[in-house]
Amino acid sequence: MEKEKPGYDDTPIIPGSNYRVHDKERPYPPVISPGTASTQEQAGKPPSDAKILFDGESISGWVHLDGRPAEWKVENGYMEVMPKTGNIKSKQEFGDCQMHIEWATPEKVEGESQGRGNSGVFMMGIYEIQVLDSYNNITYADGSAASIYGQYPPLVNACRKPGEWQSYDVVWISPRFEGERVISPAVITLFHNGILVHHCQKLIGPTAHRQVLPYKKHSLIGPLMLQDHGNPVRYRNIWYRPIVGI
Ligand code: MG
Repeated sequence: MEKEKPGYDDTPIIPGSNYRVHDKERPYPPVISPGTASTQEQAGKPPSDAKILFDGESISGWVHLDGRPAEWKVENGYMEVMPKTGNIKSKQEFGDCQMHIEWATPEKVEGESQGRGNSGVFMMGIYEIQVLDSYNNITYADGSAASIYGQYPPLVNACRKPGEWQSYDVVWISPRFEGERVISPAVITLFHNGILVHHCQKLIGPTAHRQVLPYKKHSLIGPLMLQDHGNPVRYRNIWYRPIVGI
């Protein structure tokens, strides 16, 4: 005989839901393996249900904006910006998600302000989370590491030393459009090295240098784009998990 499921069938319906409080019939959350944390020496293991964008071995899932294969260097489990080859974007496109990426600015400190360890992580290819060596490097606040470029500085500067691996964990909600009009903006929550630096922050529109730009209608999904800003910044362990309800 099948074992009776724990729960109730005589409790109130939860408002806005098809289920009762502690409903026996409510589906259980899928079981996943949560993976492992990274160390400075080695990238961790992504959760078992993650969609992998870069596994440390192959850059074949990435192209330059004109479609040619990504020319960035891959070695020792990371990819590195090959200056002057241009930005790269993932072939995979996705929308609302949890996204993880690790990066390191060059150990040898060169340049200052926006010229030191500059790159960027563009959600949907449009909205930049700044990557910069912001360790003892003064620049305008909304252009420092973990800023939403040109819009919001991070709540704190949680930067590690140049050459050390750092992480961004993003919760991303894509903007929604009705016709040409934006009806809900992009919303970002960001952890830098595990530290909350943006909480449910509503983006003003696409990010840009010295400009405020209005939203321009686009699809609910887009690629992840990484910036070639002329500095050999490294990336590893890039994955996302679409946000799906149960
Ligand atoms: Mg940048």
